[in-house]
Amino acid sequence: MKAAPAAQKRLLDLAELDSALDRLAHRRRTLPELAQIDELSGRIARIAPQVIAAETESGDLAREQSKAEADVDSVRTRAERDQKRLDSGQVSSPKDLASLQSEIVSLKRRQDDLEEVVLEIMERRESADERVTKLVAERDELAGTRGSAEDRRDAAFAEIDKEKGELQGKRTEVAGDIPADLLALYEKLREQFGVGAAMLQGARCLGCRTSLSIAEINRIKAASHEEVIRCEECRRILVRTAESGL
Ligand SMILES: [Zn+2]
Repeated sequence: MKAAPAAQKRLLDLAELDSALDRLAHRRRTLPELAQIDELSGRIARIAPQVIAAETESGDLAREQSKAEADVDSVRTRAERDQKRLDSGQVSSPKDLASLQSEIVSLKRRQDDLEEVVLEIMERRESADERVTKLVAERDELAGTRGSAEDRRDAAFAEIDKEKGELQGKRTEVAGDIPADLLALYEKLREQFGVGAAMLQGARCLGCRTSLSIAEINRIKAASHEEVIRCEECRRILVRTAESGL
């Protein structure tokens, strides 16, 4: 392949822009915020079922408490009714009186027991509610931290994308100075090796940092300036400039 030396030199500008674009893409992929957001999302996902479990437990205990309180009420109502009958003096038979008094005593005992149950449920409910409050606060804090990280990520993305747009504009301009066949070769090599062209500096390929053999240097020296040279080591297009010293 042959191409004007000026067009070949434009390949170096293109390679420089492409590596700047690669660096931007790398920066976009490896923003520390991305790992941070992932980590926070994982923690938020792990805390969500804990919140649900604590809320469910609290709800169950609230229902259990209402039921236990209703039991207390019904026992108390029965005891009050018995007490009224006792106080009214309507029950006169000693046997009935004794049975009524004994029922009142046993209802009071039952009421005490049930009130103990209510208290115990209330304590459990309180600790479940505390757990809900703590977990929700933790989740909200994580969500807030993630929100800030997302804002920083978006700001960095916007900045990177703006820079990328500018570089791509320049790249289009530079690519316009390069003949289609040479550009196609460059693109193919770039796809294969990451970089499509490198400068020949002295006897060294700046793409792979390998020094060329004397025979190779002599071959390049003998070739015309239009000849498109490739590095034997890395296969990239070797561009001769004033710095090549040939
Ligand atoms: Zn090379």
